[in-house]
Amino acid sequence: MFFTSRLCYVYIPMTPLSESSPKTTSPWTPCPVLGIESSCDETSAAILSSDGTVLSNVVSSQDSVHRQYGGVVPELAARAHLGTIDRVVQSALTQAQLTRQDLGAIAVTQGPGLAGALLVGLNYAKGLAFGLSLPLIGVNHLEGHIASAWLADPSFPFPCIVLVVSGGHTHLFRRDTDGRTQLLGCTRDDAAGEAFDKGAQMLGLDYPGGPAIDRLARQGNPKAVRFPLSRLQKSSLEFSFSGLKTSLLYRLRGMDQSARTAQAADLAAGYQEAIVRVLVDRAFVAVKSSGVQALAVVGGVSANSRLRALLTARAREEGIRLALPPMAYCTDNAAMIASAGRQLLISGQPPSADLEILPSLRAETYMDRAPLHAR
Ligand code: ADP
Ligand code: MG
Repeated sequence: MFFTSRLCYVYIPMTPLSESSPKTTSPWTPCPVLGIESSCDETSAAILSSDGTVLSNVVSSQDSVHRQYGGVVPELAARAHLGTIDRVVQSALTQAQLTRQDLGAIAVTQGPGLAGALLVGLNYAKGLAFGLSLPLIGVNHLEGHIASAWLADPSFPFPCIVLVVSGGHTHLFRRDTDGRTQLLGCTRDDAAGEAFDKGAQMLGLDYPGGPAIDRLARQGNPKAVRFPLSRLQKSSLEFSFSGLKTSLLYRLRGMDQSARTAQAADLAAGYQEAIVRVLVDRAFVAVKSSGVQALAVVGGVSANSRLRALLTARAREEGIRLALPPMAYCTDNAAMIASAGRQLLISGQPPSADLEILPSLRAETYMDRAPLHAR
């Protein structure tokens, strides 16, 4: 049995996104869009109305499947998606008070993610699209996270900086008025969510680690146990969290079990502080160096309460507009996939009936594909 390193997906050579689609495009006609997400350990289906309002967003988490292993087991994730996907889609339809026949398009996560997990969602979406003669659009999971910033706040302005911070990604983007998206920097090693998950494992906390550290840290003092802040150069827009992880490991090695237990909350608070301070710091370096007035922070780690508090305070101080999606749109969900897919269709991206999964899809590859227009 082996576990996923979220940054190291198996490389399977596939046709690039831009080449897999037919060249013909049809004009966008407003319609309800079904979104399907199955890239990692959440099976999710959501429906957006013709005007883009979220009618339903059903998420079935696999936490209980993976908890005993302390990480996502790819084979188990794929099997769990298989057992759940039809029920999740049905319940998204029921909650939206629609039937399959009311749908006008389907958006599905194409990558990056776990190959087996992606296959389940993509093949389900393909079958449904074929059976109902609906257009099918492939969505980059990162683009989905970015789109989540506009789900709750459709008037969020451009240009803006978007920090995607999740279990697999710590990426800073600039999104311009024309929808063009530029990658400014990313992590050199672990993603912030990965640092949370691995840190939690070392502290003996439950899976998933991010929420567990978040909860425990509320009872601790972030200044009691200080961890090094991984600042690269002052103006750098890159991140590095592997040193922090090592620092926690060495600190724990120097403590016996009773000291670990006594200081657990302070350790969690100090460790969390070292992650979130760097995230806030780098995000605002990007805001200032780009001269933009708006910052969106999205992805699973954006659910962190300390990160949200620090970002909110700093944005107020700097007079910057901040978008922090509601919790339901932070961690993996299909509403963000439906929204990103809908935007692709609006911007004229041709649908494709013969999509392939793209497990190792890179942010840069995708961002060149089609500029998105958020509204
Ligand atoms: P993926 O990385 O597959 O895109 P998500 O976007 O759902 O997945 O993000 C999952 C990551 O978010 C995990 O690493 C998890 O620990 C982290 N996370 C979730 N909630 C919190 C939280 N409250 N504090 C810190 N990290 C969190
Ligand atoms: Mg995600």
